[in-house]
Amino acid sequence: MADNADRSQIEIERALERSLANCAVDDVVPSAECVECGEAVEAGRAKVLKTNVCAACAHKKERLAKLFAGRR
Ligand SMILES: [Zn+2]
Repeated sequence: MADNADRSQIEIERALERSLANCAVDDVVPSAECVECGEAVEAGRAKVLKTNVCAACAHKKERLAKLFAGRR
């Protein structure tokens, strides 16, 4: 059972990353430095996701997005 939970959690995270990447593509210029906190963006991450925020800030944004998504 734990395996299934883990797997769906991973699927959820992948879907989130994909949708975040999709909405980011238009107006985000990939950057080597996080625009939020100035830390270096992980090189592989910036390339794959076309992001300009580090993993920590992206995670923070995800959590905020989830909070707002749950609010009506
Ligand atoms: Zn950051």
